[in-house]
Amino acid sequence: MADSPPPLAWVLLHNLLVQAVACLALVGTVFLLVWRWDRERFRGHRIPAPARFGREQLGRELRYTLVTFVVGTSSAGGVMWLLQSGRSALVMEPVPAWAVAGWTLGLVAFNDAWFYGWHRLLHHPRLFRYVHAVHHKSVDVNPFSSYAFHGVESFLLGIWILPAAAWLPLPLAAIGVVQLIGLGNNVMAHLGYEFLPRWLVRVPVLRWTNTATFHSLHHTRLNGNYGLHSRLWDRLFGTEVPGYEEAFLQRAEGKYRRYP
Ligand SMILES: [Zn+2]
Ligand SMILES: [Zn+2]
Repeated sequence: MADSPPPLAWVLLHNLLVQAVACLALVGTVFLLVWRWDRERFRGHRIPAPARFGREQLGRELRYTLVTFVVGTSSAGGVMWLLQSGRSALVMEPVPAWAVAGWTLGLVAFNDAWFYGWHRLLHHPRLFRYVHAVHHKSVDVNPFSSYAFHGVESFLLGIWILPAAAWLPLPLAAIGVVQLIGLGNNVMAHLGYEFLPRWLVRVPVLRWTNTATFHSLHHTRLNGNYGLHSRLWDRLFGTEVPGYEEAFLQRAEGKYRRYP
């Protein structure tokens, strides 16, 4: 009897489980290492917040992270449907590393702008409480805050993958690398600890990258620092929280006693 492909539902369930286990293993490991293992050693790196992390917050973050995984699996299902029905432009064959790097850079830049636009819109006073408020219930952010989003927000932030998969000759590897970069950036931004060196904000190009301090300020102030990977769009539209660089430098000098 000829082998038939497994039903799409099984593939998606498998995808959901792999995604959940891999992501939670990474997030959990980082949490244990930074938040629990040697708190005294990392005390100077801690970014203070006006609220303290607790069990109730962790439970809510885990529930909404599961919602994000389910929505992400639905998008993966859409991409698989495009592939199976011959409607996808994705490149499945191996491609040169420069092509993967080029597409990765382009997708990260696009995602940075896409996220900034939606994030700023979801902060509009008329919309905020319906969707994005879920993410902002976490004030003392930690690695488990990274994917705690309302389902609508998870959908909006990730839906670009469907038209991209339908019309762009994207190498599959580039999508994987972009997901890994996104995961790393998200966990770093919600670390609640700043480990980057103080010279970062003195080096051209590097100074425009997102940091844990930058995103923690977003969670404590609410009205600025909307960027995902970079400070570029916040600088361009004048939405950067004033005093960000000073706050970042304070950490390196061990003066981070209160939230800025
Ligand atoms: Zn926000
Ligand atoms: Zn956040």
